[in-house]
Formats: sequence, C-alpha cells, structure tokens
Amino acid sequence: MPGFVNRLLERFRRRTPALLVVEAALWDELLTELAIRGKGVRESGAFLLGVAPVNGAPRRVADVVYYDDLDPASLTGNISFGGFAYGRLWDECEARGLAVVADVHTHPGPWVAQSSTDREHPMLAQSGHIALIVPDFAQRHVGAHEVGVHEYLGETQWQSALDTEAAARLKIERRAR
Ligand SMILES: [Zn+2]
Repeated sequence: MPGFVNRLLERFRRRTPALLVVEAALWDELLTELAIRGKGVRESGAFLLGVAPVNGAPRRVADVVYYDDLDPASLTGNISFGGFAYGRLWDECEARGLAVVADVHTHPGPWVAQSSTDREHPMLAQSGHIALIVPDFAQRHVGAHEVGVHEYLGETQWQSALDTEAAARLKIERRAR
C-alpha cells in the first residue's frame, strides 16, 4: 500500500478506536462456518463471546456460538432466533466464563447496512452491543472494510460504521508466527 494511504489510515484509526478485535484464524473459521450453515441461500449467524469490556477497551473475541446450534430452527432465510434459546446461550457463557460481546449475521449480496428488522430487534438490547453484518452469505473471504459494524446505543438507536470506518472499528488481527 502506498505510504500516503497508510498514513491516512493510521490517522483515521487513531481517531476511531477499535471496538472489537478478532484473531485472523478465528475470523477465517467464523466465515467458513457461516458459509456452510447458510449454504449460500440463507442468512446464518452467531454470538461472539469474550471477556466483558473494561472502561472502553476493545472487546476481544475468544469464542463463537452459532445461532443454529442454540436454536436449530433459527435459519429460516432470515434469522428467527427463538426467545427460549437465550437460556442455552447464557448456559454456554457461564460454562466458558465469557460474556456476549457482539453478534454477527450474513446478508445476501454486498449490502451490509441494517434492515429495519435488524435495527428494531437487536439480538442483545444492551447499549454498547455490537452487531456485525457480513456480505455475500460469507461465501468468500471477507475483510473488515467489507463488514457492517453497528453499535447499539439503546432505544433502537445505532451507530453504523462502513468501509474504512468499519476497518478501524473491527480489527482482524494477523499474528506473526
Ligand atoms: Zn440483517
């Protein structure tokens, strides 16, 4: 990447701190699983678990629980996650000693803005909760700049980040080995 682009990105990142950090291996696994579960024809999704955030620090994703593992009937084309399945989700969180830090679901095509249903029915109606939207039913590799990063502000209000802003908010961390 040319130096001036890097400098611009760097300036942007300083202004827009990361909300969520995912290790690249886990991100790749997540995309693969979402693609398999959606079969290229329906939306799929998951809760992302991590340690509850402390004073504004970015949340690090440590584990993933898929909607259809909690509620096998949830992938109906859209996502129809049953209220009863939250009990199973809390059990999973307790067993792993983790909290829900975000959710993710796929959309058909390149459109990663929220639908009215997405806006009106947050998977976790807790201010600060993050909802990611992945394009193309996750049937290909998706970078952070292609994801919709939507932060819940409470009372059905959201703050959305797309493109470079999304890449600053969602950090996919590739570790040197
Ligand atoms: Zn949606």
